[in-house]
Amino acid sequence: MDMIREVEPSARRPSPGSPTSLKEANQARLIEALQFSGTMTQAELSRFTGLAPSTVSNIVRELTTSGLLRVSPTVSHGRTAQAVRLSRGAGVLVAADFGHRHLTVAIADLAYEILAEERVTLEWDHRVHDGLAEIGRIVDRLLPTLGLGRELVVGVGMGLPAPIDVRTGEVGAPSQLPGWVGVDAAALATETLGVPVRVDNDANLGALAEDRWGAGRGAENVAYLKLSDGVGAGLVIRGELYQGSIGTAGEIGHATMNEFGALCRCGNRGCLETLVGTPALLGQLAATHGTGLAIADVVALAQGGDVACRRVLEDAGHHVGVAVANLCNIFNPDRIIVGGELAQAEGLIVESMQRALKRQGIPSAAQAVQMVLAELGSRSQLLGALVIASGGASPAVLAAARDNSVDVARVAD
Ligand SMILES: [Zn+2]
Repeated sequence: MDMIREVEPSARRPSPGSPTSLKEANQARLIEALQFSGTMTQAELSRFTGLAPSTVSNIVRELTTSGLLRVSPTVSHGRTAQAVRLSRGAGVLVAADFGHRHLTVAIADLAYEILAEERVTLEWDHRVHDGLAEIGRIVDRLLPTLGLGRELVVGVGMGLPAPIDVRTGEVGAPSQLPGWVGVDAAALATETLGVPVRVDNDANLGALAEDRWGAGRGAENVAYLKLSDGVGAGLVIRGELYQGSIGTAGEIGHATMNEFGALCRCGNRGCLETLVGTPALLGQLAATHGTGLAIADVVALAQGGDVACRRVLEDAGHHVGVAVANLCNIFNPDRIIVGGELAQAEGLIVESMQRALKRQGIPSAAQAVQMVLAELGSRSQLLGALVIASGGASPAVLAAARDNSVDVARVAD
């Protein structure tokens, strides 16, 4: 999956076809299976990977000795079996999710199980160096609580609320983090943190996580909508993120809804975001409800029968539905996942989205698509950052873990 900017070249791969490469490929398949499922018995591993039971048994023995895997007794189908999982000592992943005014950092094992996390508030106009230094400080606070050292971090995935140019790695405009625009965030973060860092925008990461673990499971072509301060979409085609030629695919927040409408932060007029971004919605209610409301308050008031709050949410659903109808006509997804802060409004927004989609979309495309609420909530960006932290491919993880193998056996799980 070549979806993110790879900063560290993987020069350790042996030539294809050699006995070493076959062995490594088999090891990688087994590790990938464990990353996918967390824990498996040896029989399940054999079925899942297609490797012979004796091959699985040899790999498990070898990788357990080197500290990459951990086995413990379990009962499967009434019989005693060995449950195999990746050892914490095999390496850990770090996810860093930047929002408009916050940073959440999580540490997870290679099977994406979160072991520790911390959230801090940040000034929206903070400098990029300060944001990156904060990741390092949190990682250094969390790792010792897990009994782990920094050398076990095999990769960092970073989510930013801005488009990322996949050719240059540069953070583009419009960005919710003005201090980051024009910076090659992946390269600078790799230099600052001393481990490979991969970067993508928040809607793309939400799409990846929902596709893999949430409301996108079982769908082929997924569009994930992030409706928050900023509005964006992540498009996943058969499990792979579609980024377009430079990485800006899915910028639905800047679809023109009214070419003479309000000025948008992107420089255009009448973008969807000027109508449904949370500042716009709260702004509409300022005259009647004051300036102290959050979206959660608007939803609660609307559910309690407040006419103005209900109207604002329904109108937002209508505008998003019109933009989604255009998206469906062009992209023809089989599932639309509604996420971000506005998803809290559930039926209040989704029903008017569906009405607009039905009215504006071509009938065949509108009928073919299922519209569902996101399942992972605000966790989706963090989980998506873990997916890109691992590089999406286990040979690199394996190589990195092998480089640490002198230490891994000593790490307590
Ligand atoms: Zn715009």
